[in-house]
Amino acid sequence: MKVVVIGCTHAGTFAIKQILSEYPDADVTVYEKNDNISFLSCGIALYLGDQIKDPQGLFYSSPEELKELGATVKMLHEVTDVDLENKVVTIENLDTEDTLTDSYDKLVVTTGSWPIIPPIKGIDNDKVFLCKNWNHAQELFKKAPDAKRITVIGAGYIGAELAEAYSRTGHEVTLIDGADRVMPKYFNKEMTDIIEKDYTDNGVKLGLGESVEEISGDDTITVKTNKGVYETDLVILCVGFRPNTSLFKGKLDMLQNGALITNDYMQTSDPDVFGAGDSVAVHYNPTHSNAYIPLATNAVRQGILVGKNLVKPTVKYMGTQSTSGLKLYERTAASTGLTIEAAKAQGINAREVRLTDNYRPEFMETTTPVVMSLVYNPDTRQILGGALLSLYDVAQSANTLSVMIQNQNTIDDLAMVDMLFQPQFDRPFNYLNELGQAAQAQEAK
Ligand SMILES: Cc1cc2nc3c(=O)[nH]c(=O)nc-3n(C[C@H](O)[C@H](O)[C@H](O)COP(=O)(O)OP(=O)(O)OC[C@H]3O[C@@H](n4cnc5c(N)ncnc54)[C@H](O)[C@@H]3O)c2cc1C
Repeated sequence: MKVVVIGCTHAGTFAIKQILSEYPDADVTVYEKNDNISFLSCGIALYLGDQIKDPQGLFYSSPEELKELGATVKMLHEVTDVDLENKVVTIENLDTEDTLTDSYDKLVVTTGSWPIIPPIKGIDNDKVFLCKNWNHAQELFKKAPDAKRITVIGAGYIGAELAEAYSRTGHEVTLIDGADRVMPKYFNKEMTDIIEKDYTDNGVKLGLGESVEEISGDDTITVKTNKGVYETDLVILCVGFRPNTSLFKGKLDMLQNGALITNDYMQTSDPDVFGAGDSVAVHYNPTHSNAYIPLATNAVRQGILVGKNLVKPTVKYMGTQSTSGLKLYERTAASTGLTIEAAKAQGINAREVRLTDNYRPEFMETTTPVVMSLVYNPDTRQILGGALLSLYDVAQSANTLSVMIQNQNTIDDLAMVDMLFQPQFDRPFNYLNELGQAAQAQEAK
């Protein structure tokens, strides 16, 4: 069996390893246009913020490792065309500029995503940087010491982390977003008010509800929005990602943004073509529909499923709740599933309950509040989403809520489900049980 894999960061690396473990005799060739594999972009902000010392630790595999496992690894090779009918790919060797072709029995599309570059006047200024891969990371690492003033455009997870990281290392940071809150897709206003105060307390200037209209200048850069003007030394663009699937336009079924649609076994509309990671849509369990949610969590799981399902449908994709977490200053913010706004925007009957309580009893030497929200369907009482914010590490609690959404549990399940009690950690009812009970009380009114 001849397998060609296009792209090798997370989905590609996991797919190749799984394919070779399931089918050690498979002839697997991977084409990767970059010169490295498996870079964890989530470490960029940690390195810039001085929280890790060696960025080399952000790679967990290498071309050499994949070769040892039996793959043929073609680095600096870009796939430029795919003929699905004849099962042939065309490749450019980016070193020699030679063009070659290769054939396959099974094709794995793990081409990932690329940052969205909005049509802003002056966006091609060479002081405007992207933040996606190792090459971007190196540029940002190099520039950080000289750029005193940093402007981050986009206050989603990635922009939020970068703004925090730069403010920790003595930079003057401005964080701009067209939305009127940071990370509105994940947290309610009560929570984003707290997060925004952390930013301003740490010197970050927030330009929320502002859309960037123009970027200009050579040495000092001017970022002009509909409401203000910011002088800066460097701009980082973090306004989202789009799937790298232009090779398959008109050839495979896609969402409107180009994300490949797969079945539960990661098969695209061509049964011999599999997809995984940022190049494909996910099944979003809270809405039971396809969605574009580019996360490494999805990429590694789907990569493994490609290997397991390559020859016959074997293991179904469980879908995702888009569970994510981040640490900003000393606070953990974690979320899963839908916010109330997102539920309403999709026409889902949903209610939100909010609760703030100390995570463990006041008789302990210290305790601290956990700010929580839970979104549920009042008809079925099923949990649709949840979020937590605290100086206590509540990240794993978002994982608990994620499992409950996955399993279609209700607020009544959450209210009473068995959770450990020990005053070091919580009360006789864990704070998540209390959140479920608050939802029950709200429904009893
Ligand atoms: C700054 C940052 C922080 C993040 N933090 C987190 C986090 O904390 N948690 C989380 O879950 N996710 C996080 N993510 C998202 C995560 O990095 C992505 O979901 C993940 O990289 C997707 O992996 P992938 O392999 O599908 O795609 P990609 O990482 O996009 O890799 C695709 C690969 O395909 C190659 N390729 C594309 N086209 C071709 C072609 N035609 N020929 C040959 N090669 C090709 C590319 O060069 C690339 O190496 C973060 C992303 C960024 C940018």
